Amino acid sequence: MMEYDDLVKRMEKLLPGKGEEKTRFEVPKVKGRIQGKKTMIINLKAIADFLDRDEKLLLKFLLKELGTKAIKESTHYVLTGKFSAQLINEKIDKFVNEFVKCRECKKPDTKMTKHDRINSIKCMACGAKYPIRI
Ligand SMILES: [Zn+2]
Repeated sequence: MMEYDDLVKRMEKLLPGKGEEKTRFEVPKVKGRIQGKKTMIINLKAIADFLDRDEKLLLKFLLKELGTKAIKESTHYVLTGKFSAQLINEKIDKFVNEFVKCRECKKPDTKMTKHDRINSIKCMACGAKYPIRI
């Protein structure tokens, strides 16, 4: 016979807890290295795919934030200047807050749509829809 406490614990495991929301949405950390005066990013596409956003949009945002430019070399990007992974991760977090997380409920389950040259965010969790400026 199962103790009541054990049963409660089992139920808690089955039901999604409030605390799990955050850990489920873990943005991949940037992968790359600094070479001389340049910074290489090898997993930008993977990060953009995870966020369900256009790779070019993410790149454009990062370059603007870092005040630099980049060239694409086969599968990776080479940025002019030295940027620590920590700094790039911070910028990606900023991107997530501005272009991925819902303004209303802060959940990351959103889609970006473009209609008549206006970009909008639509939240799958709470239904909020609002235009954003890129
Ligand atoms: Zn929402």
